[in-house]
Amino acid sequence: MTAKYDAIVVGGGHNGLVAAAYLARSGARTVVLEGRHKTGGAATTEAPWPDAPELRVTRLSYVMSLMPPTIINDLDLVRHGYKIYPMGPYYQAFPEGGSIKLYADDAQRNHDEVSKWSKKDADAMPQWDAWLEGLAEVLGPLLLTVPPTIGSRKPRDLADTLRLAWRHRGLDVRTIADVTRLMTMSIADLLDDWFESPQVKGALAVNGVIGTWAGPYEPGTAYVMAHHSIGDVGDGHLGNWGFQEGGMGAVSTAIERAARSHGAEIRTGAPVARVIVENGRARGVVLENGDEIRAQVVVSTVHPRTAFLAHVGAENLPDDFVRDIQHWKSRSGVVKINLALAELPDFTADPGSDLQEHHTGSVEMAPTMEYIERAFQDAREGRPAARPFSDGVIPTAFDKTLTPEGTHIMSLFTQWVPDDWNTEPHTEELEAYADRMIDCYNELAPNLKASILHRDIVGPYQMEHEYGLVGGNIFHGELSLEQLFHMRPAPGYADYRTPVTGLYYGSSATHAGGGVCGIPGWQAATAAITDKKAARRAGQIRKLTRRS
Ligand SMILES: Cc1cc2nc3c(=O)[nH]c(=O)nc-3n(C[C@H](O)[C@H](O)[C@H](O)COP(=O)(O)OP(=O)(O)OC[C@H]3O[C@@H](n4cnc5c(N)ncnc54)[C@H](O)[C@@H]3O)c2cc1C
Repeated sequence: MTAKYDAIVVGGGHNGLVAAAYLARSGARTVVLEGRHKTGGAATTEAPWPDAPELRVTRLSYVMSLMPPTIINDLDLVRHGYKIYPMGPYYQAFPEGGSIKLYADDAQRNHDEVSKWSKKDADAMPQWDAWLEGLAEVLGPLLLTVPPTIGSRKPRDLADTLRLAWRHRGLDVRTIADVTRLMTMSIADLLDDWFESPQVKGALAVNGVIGTWAGPYEPGTAYVMAHHSIGDVGDGHLGNWGFQEGGMGAVSTAIERAARSHGAEIRTGAPVARVIVENGRARGVVLENGDEIRAQVVVSTVHPRTAFLAHVGAENLPDDFVRDIQHWKSRSGVVKINLALAELPDFTADPGSDLQEHHTGSVEMAPTMEYIERAFQDAREGRPAARPFSDGVIPTAFDKTLTPEGTHIMSLFTQWVPDDWNTEPHTEELEAYADRMIDCYNELAPNLKASILHRDIVGPYQMEHEYGLVGGNIFHGELSLEQLFHMRPAPGYADYRTPVTGLYYGSSATHAGGGVCGIPGWQAATAAITDKKAARRAGQIRKLTRRS
């Protein structure tokens, strides 16, 4: 059976849906092929407990930040259901007593909170915020920039590199030094330069290790902090992190609606087995059931190993590119623990299980950098963390659509288990790990354990085998220095094009990924549309030349 389209998108995660929406909007007859029974990929809302279908959780990713206004407006996502509740403060209660709250946009309250732990740190906070803002002004717009092919001598590539250098001609020696520090330092060393209080440093280190196979003392984690702190990619004010009403699956649904409104077709339960390559050109795909679907343009948004080694095949790719993809690092050791609660956690430091401000932001288990580091070292030594690190949130503090009145979801993004736990389910050990994680929170909020109605644990094996997140890495590939910008996903191919003509690549493993930002999908579609227009123009010129 052979069907024909102008464009095929492999993978119906949010990036695939964004790519499809833009392709369909450009007039291309577009189909999305998603292997699972539903779209969304890692941006998904599900009801994981069969005996409680009324309880819905944002099962993997849990907060929004980096989606640019350009995409939100182009795709009219608000009309399609995109609705964000800005998050409350960062909150950490301490085992030794007391707590800290950090606000994204309230310098006075930050000063009051940090003063509880160190007057010196409180005074340093405004400069730190200004320093980060200055760096965000440089790094934010870079997220929307197609990385040039650095090192290429082709005139077009040289022009791209020069254009990028020219755009940054205003940067002074100090800013370049700060960017260099950010790109090369560990978050621990960076914070040691700025602050003295272990509590404040623990709080600020969290963003440096999210989704990362690295503790806070590893070089490169300072950049991971920046990636999670930018918040504004330069095409408008983005605000802070926020909860999507209906969970992250509702973001995917909004994009899917936009894609359908432009005529895209979305097929679920349609796993792709391979990309058809003829004479170095992508000509379509073959599904696992043997169906063949033909198109001149294929945009893949699955993990690079799946997209290139499994779907395209090494025989159709240059050797150095194959080697780069084989060496692509996808470790992580993340475990997502979703809890359904009968009541909100009652913290000894801030008593009460009625809804309070500290329930509305992130509810952390990262009391010090040393605590976070220990959790990583356990996993590096081959054991799941004895006392795991967690970035927790309670979206139901705002969102009443997820669970019945009076119940709550507490979503714990936890680290680390050993990096090879993607190869076996490790079910019993994950249960024990979740017990320990809950015990850690229970020390701070003693009603937590008794309030748990249901729990759902998603470890690296399930992430890989059910969601296609190879290695369990949440971004389709680590955000380590050698996998950023012009190296993402491989040198020479960071412009969302691939060695196969007509095959484009737009997963979180490209520049600006990961995260639920849609930029990779948008860029891959833009590259395909641009090439199509250029080919059409070249064809017209050829025709005219022949006639004259
Ligand atoms: C636990 C966890 C927490 C996270 N938290 C956050 C967060 O809070 N905020 C944030 O911004 N980001 C977060 N992230 C990262 C973010 O979710 C991802 O970077 C992003 O969702 C990836 O989107 P994608 O479209 O590139 O890929 P995916 O979402 O992985 O989509 C790829 C799709 O392709 C499908 N597929 C795979 N193989 C095939 C095949 N052969 N044929 C057809 N379809 C196939 C998959 O089923 C999937 O639907 C988190 C991720 C995880 C796992």
